[in-house]
Amino acid sequence: MMQASNVTGTALLFPGALQPTDTPGPFASVALEDALDKLLDYSVPSNWAADLRIGQRVAVPLGKRNRPRFGYVVGIRQQTDYPKIKPLLAIDDRRVLVPAPLLALARWMSRYYCTPLGTVIDSIIPSAVKKRIGVGRSYIVRMLKTRKEIQELLEKVKATKRRSVLARLLQIEGDEGIELHRLAGEAGTTATTVRKLVKLGLISITRQMDAPTLPPPGDPLPPAEPAMALNEDQQKAFDALIPCIRDSGFSVSLLKGVTGSGKTEVYLQCIAGVVQQGRQAIVMVPEIALTPQTVRRFTARFTRVAILHSGLSAGERHRFWQQTATGMADVVVGARSAVFAPLPRLGMIVVDEEHEASYKQDSAPRYHGRDVAIKRAQLENVPVLLGSATPSLEMFWRVTQGRVPKMDQGNEAPVEPSPPLYQLLQLPRRVRGLEMPAVELLDMKQEMRRRKGIHLVSQRLEDLLKQTIARKQQAILLLNRRGYSGFVYCVSCQQAVQCKYCDATMTYHRSAGAQQQTARWNDALHTGQLHCHYCLAIQPLPQTCPECGKKLTLFGLGTQRVEEELNKKFPDVNFARVDSDTMRNSKDYEALLSRFGRGEVQVMLGTQMIAKGLDYPNVTLVGVINGDTALSLPDFRAAERTFQLITQVAGRAGRGSNPGRVVLQTFMPDDPTIRSALKQDYDGFARPELARRQEVLYPPFGRLVRIVLRDQDVEKLNTLSEVLAYELNKVVEIINREGFDVAAKGPMPCTINRIAGYWRQQIVMKATQGEGLQRVLAELREKKAFARSERIAVDVDPVSLL
Ligand code: ADP
Ligand code: ZN
Repeated sequence: MMQASNVTGTALLFPGALQPTDTPGPFASVALEDALDKLLDYSVPSNWAADLRIGQRVAVPLGKRNRPRFGYVVGIRQQTDYPKIKPLLAIDDRRVLVPAPLLALARWMSRYYCTPLGTVIDSIIPSAVKKRIGVGRSYIVRMLKTRKEIQELLEKVKATKRRSVLARLLQIEGDEGIELHRLAGEAGTTATTVRKLVKLGLISITRQMDAPTLPPPGDPLPPAEPAMALNEDQQKAFDALIPCIRDSGFSVSLLKGVTGSGKTEVYLQCIAGVVQQGRQAIVMVPEIALTPQTVRRFTARFTRVAILHSGLSAGERHRFWQQTATGMADVVVGARSAVFAPLPRLGMIVVDEEHEASYKQDSAPRYHGRDVAIKRAQLENVPVLLGSATPSLEMFWRVTQGRVPKMDQGNEAPVEPSPPLYQLLQLPRRVRGLEMPAVELLDMKQEMRRRKGIHLVSQRLEDLLKQTIARKQQAILLLNRRGYSGFVYCVSCQQAVQCKYCDATMTYHRSAGAQQQTARWNDALHTGQLHCHYCLAIQPLPQTCPECGKKLTLFGLGTQRVEEELNKKFPDVNFARVDSDTMRNSKDYEALLSRFGRGEVQVMLGTQMIAKGLDYPNVTLVGVINGDTALSLPDFRAAERTFQLITQVAGRAGRGSNPGRVVLQTFMPDDPTIRSALKQDYDGFARPELARRQEVLYPPFGRLVRIVLRDQDVEKLNTLSEVLAYELNKVVEIINREGFDVAAKGPMPCTINRIAGYWRQQIVMKATQGEGLQRVLAELREKKAFARSERIAVDVDPVSLL
């Protein structure tokens, strides 16, 4: 791992050498990639002092055996109080991988999300960049003679291949040069032939970090697609955003627009304004929304767009990072991690569907992409535009209160720019006068009473589906559960088959082969497997109950089960099932969406994957098979999630010239959340829900920190939890004496008590202000209470407590 590379030209100097304490400066303060929660000082060998920059990746010796480790230079100073100073081993990469604004952001994240700085930086830099994958291999060919000389030469040269290389070179304007392999390819020859021209002194070949694929900035490029004329609502929102963009400065605008109200067009025009000023924009979308449909809207409008998504190869990832870092991309579109795009002239950040839980990372640093976006915007003094049809209650409350985000509880003075710091902008209507879809409620309890047999799809939904299909229109059916059935149940033990490693019920999945068979519902019992959705364990389906040996029954419902029912009811219709079982990667999903877009698939059935961002004008029917499954989860966000999911999926209907219809099937027809989802009445949902949250001081009225502890050994876990809880309660008591109101609960078993063989307990802290919580965390961190990061996970602002 310590090989010197000729890309960076670094060498291993004095490996393992220890220097005396009175080593002269400068000293580099290094954040190690290992989860070590402190910075270490190293001396800088004088011959590279001039090359060393803050933000570079370096190799350093660690521990008694001076094992080489990687880290980032986060400070350079002349003094150190570190007694046993060692020298840096190497500058691993000459590039500044962490520019100053990102370093400031990383420091904030380290403090706020209670994560070692090295771990934070490590997660900010794509690993392809660290490993320099796919770059350094591009060679640029330039002519060393004048065009006239080459022209004359061309007439004399006999060798046809050399002639074609020279001819191709002559076509290149300016002195940009051309990439070696591209030149060879276009001249119909090989790189070796081109290289021979170097010996003749005709061309030079230089190694370059990157082969640019985006046009260089500064060129006036015609926009690929003209902007749309904004409607009255959009214009009003846009007008309110103009001062934010023009004067730049930090501000947070929440664009609350119903589904299909043209939010994206507003983003596009704001970004156009930013780009016109020679600045750059980041657009964050949930990973699931990174479909060709969304991407195309940006690439069609702007020429220099870099797209960051999980489907990229390491080399592509590196190239995009490089393009952003060198300022070649005007717009970066990507999921959560796009918030770290190293743009040199950031002008704006857009967070689409800001309410999405997928913006929260579930490993350290457990950050929320939207909150980090707001912090970055504050640090770089630029506006943020958040958009959603169903804003998170936190953001909605904040913009309606006009309050300053008290996110920074660290030692930096909070920045409080001038108003309008927070604004709510609304698009209450759909574009082009389109109607909101009509939602009708279907009480499944009554349906069960009325009909014989098990029907997951109600008669009404079935009839509407028939009509939709007959009219050659399309439908989307939402079922929020994967698999064939919820679980396999033993009637005599009254017990479902459980995962061996988790406190969770196993889910039945039919095996792929079984789909070809005409197996009926209960015949399927012989051909499937049980999956655990938590630890991903798979076990063959037991033929009989493991406890009592009696017959097992399939119970509940899943996407596969609904698919089977639909196939029976509509034998001639092509259904596509979209869930993480059928969609192994984004390519599968993209392929399916384009078939759906072309109308080759008439009905799409899926989990929440299909609720987001899809804009297909021919979709006139949306069926929500089980509107209430998420409602019964023991989580404070259950109602919010349910409302969001139903409203989002309903919003897929009626986006074209034909009106949309939504059937909402539920067993809880009187639940207030279901009722407001029925009316798609966000404010009607938010008001009582906010009141409920206020009563119990849940976000946005209180802040939460969740600490999850795990161990394979229950006894060890108990000890670990007790010790931490004891420490924590002591600290809480001291901090509360200063007037804070931190309350801690636990240790208590997590709702899912065991995952993948690990027992889990949690401690939850709550306070009206984040500051008290931050003080407690900082104190505990100081005492190294979280040092065992593989067993203790600190989650600040958790999105759920499950
Ligand atoms: P949202 O993001 O709010 O769900 P979109 O931005 O996807 O809505 O817009 C829905 C559709 O309306 C898109 O096909 C878009 O091209 C179109 N659209 C947006 N603004 C206008 C406008 N001012 N006039 C006509 N069509 C528009
Ligand atoms: Zn499991």
